[in-house]
Amino acid sequence: MVKRICTLLLVLAAPYAMAQDYVPGEILVKMKGRPSGSKSALFMGQMQGKLALKSTFGKLNMHHMSLKAGEDMQKVLGELRENPDVEYAEPNYILRKADGEQAGADNRRYSAEEAASVSAQSGSSGTYRQSYAATKTTESWAQMNSGSEDVVVAVVDTGVDYTHSVFTSTSAIWTNPGETPNNGIDDDGNGYIDDVRGWNFYAGNKNPMDDDEHGTHVAGIIVGAGQDIMSGPFQYSHIKIMPLKFLGADGSGSTSNAISAIYYAVNNHAQVINNSWGGGSYSQALHDALAYAYAQGVVLVAAAGNAHSNNDSSAMYPANYPVPSQISVAATNDWDTLASFSNYGISTVHMAAPGVGIYSTVPGNYYRYMSGTSMAAPFVSGLAALAIREAPHLSAYQIRNLVINSSNQVAGLATKMSSGSRANSLNTIVNAKNNVNTQALDQPSYVASAPAGYRSPDSIEAKGGCGLVSTAVMRQSFGNGAGPQGPSPLGAIAALTLLPVLAWQVIRMRALANPKNRRRFERFVMNSEIKVRVGDRELVGQMNTISMGGVSFKADALLERGGVVTLQIASPDGQEQVQVEGRIVWSEQNQAYGVQFGETKDTVLDSIKGWTKDLAKAS
Ligand code: CA
Repeated sequence: MVKRICTLLLVLAAPYAMAQDYVPGEILVKMKGRPSGSKSALFMGQMQGKLALKSTFGKLNMHHMSLKAGEDMQKVLGELRENPDVEYAEPNYILRKADGEQAGADNRRYSAEEAASVSAQSGSSGTYRQSYAATKTTESWAQMNSGSEDVVVAVVDTGVDYTHSVFTSTSAIWTNPGETPNNGIDDDGNGYIDDVRGWNFYAGNKNPMDDDEHGTHVAGIIVGAGQDIMSGPFQYSHIKIMPLKFLGADGSGSTSNAISAIYYAVNNHAQVINNSWGGGSYSQALHDALAYAYAQGVVLVAAAGNAHSNNDSSAMYPANYPVPSQISVAATNDWDTLASFSNYGISTVHMAAPGVGIYSTVPGNYYRYMSGTSMAAPFVSGLAALAIREAPHLSAYQIRNLVINSSNQVAGLATKMSSGSRANSLNTIVNAKNNVNTQALDQPSYVASAPAGYRSPDSIEAKGGCGLVSTAVMRQSFGNGAGPQGPSPLGAIAALTLLPVLAWQVIRMRALANPKNRRRFERFVMNSEIKVRVGDRELVGQMNTISMGGVSFKADALLERGGVVTLQIASPDGQEQVQVEGRIVWSEQNQAYGVQFGETKDTVLDSIKGWTKDLAKAS
């Protein structure tokens, strides 16, 4: 009987589980407790046999990991969830652009010259310049202040063709003031080398160029909220686009990269983040990232989705995360009715904006019509940026409410979204100006908790019992004692050569323990920069203390880059030096990070053996 129930449960769970869409073998793990705590480090040591670290989100206390060969996703997820130090573990879900359907039959690209003639035909008085919707956008421009303040809008998308003449002639692309171009150095210490105009999280490089069209189209719409991007004359854009690419040319990307992009946006002072993408899987990790953005005063704008479905009953994320500074945007057409494809939801969708037949920039100096909630959201992002410009002291929550409340009530939308209204540029600018003397209010507190009744689909299998999954005992690679005792030759080498960071420091200390070498090195607190080579990159980290014997430093930055480091180690007498590659691990015995020499050249190990043969053993 039990077996039958289990079979039934499996059958019921299967379609739900299969509907999940995640990067094979990749897991996001959130640790309990404070960021960068020793629990997190201990955990890294425990899970070494099963998971490899890809990156760490230090402020979130979260690790992005991948399964080692032969390990089972559901089983490891189950184990992680049983681990008392783990707050949650989830697959690295895949997210997709809220696809811009091509409007009608007009699917071709237009040149800049043609764009000007299109402009002459459209955008008549009282309408949106890039469609015929009655948003009073042109009128709003006359009301904008002439101050010099700029507002940064992050476009988390497929990238942006930052060479498009609309962006170059308006100086609309954000540039990182702390970064010197192409010097191979992370000048501002934000973890990204030469990130002069954003970052490509998809490919892991400094070039956020659009290899689709989606992100460039979105960026044009945002800039177009503040000026005519079709015919010019172009003016200096006070809206700055921060291009953050996490979606590939196929329009899909991973939650881990979306999180990285959101963190980048917040930490590099974007004030609005446009998210014209999504998926159906609830991710606590993505929810946490958006809550962080909210706590830092960032307005979030999300496309409601293009499935013509009700988000109240069939969730679309990130649009459905109820973060207080978020606006979930549906699409309307030129006649102010809900676009045929647009999602809706009286309690989860907040407002609408034009999203049918929107004319905007695409790569290669072209323009094109596109439709989708992907095109509606950026118009609202642009309006939020302009509202911030008028009333920069208001909280993100106040700006969000101001933009929603400035929209026009439309009869047909009353049952489709909470405000029942469509964006209005003129009202937004005027209302923002009227709020110049309004007191900034504290934002309501917000805890990123899962929706009521939510159960992780994977936990159905992972925790369902039925003898399908047995919780394995954690393997303590470096637990309590003198390290691993196993007979594996590689493990033995690793154990013998496990040294606290930095490794040469310990060699020196061992040298000190030997009377022959005894000298006293006083240790001094010195918080300054340290550079370490990791792979082909030079990492800049924070050093804590220094002595004549070595330095100690925070290992987080190293963990963030996958934990593989190249160290230069000097011999105790300082006469010899070797370069050695190793992986950062946590040593319970030493209560410190160490570097494990996994597959080091024999010549290097011979050198170390030579150095240590006369040294006293560390206790
Ligand atoms: Ca940088």
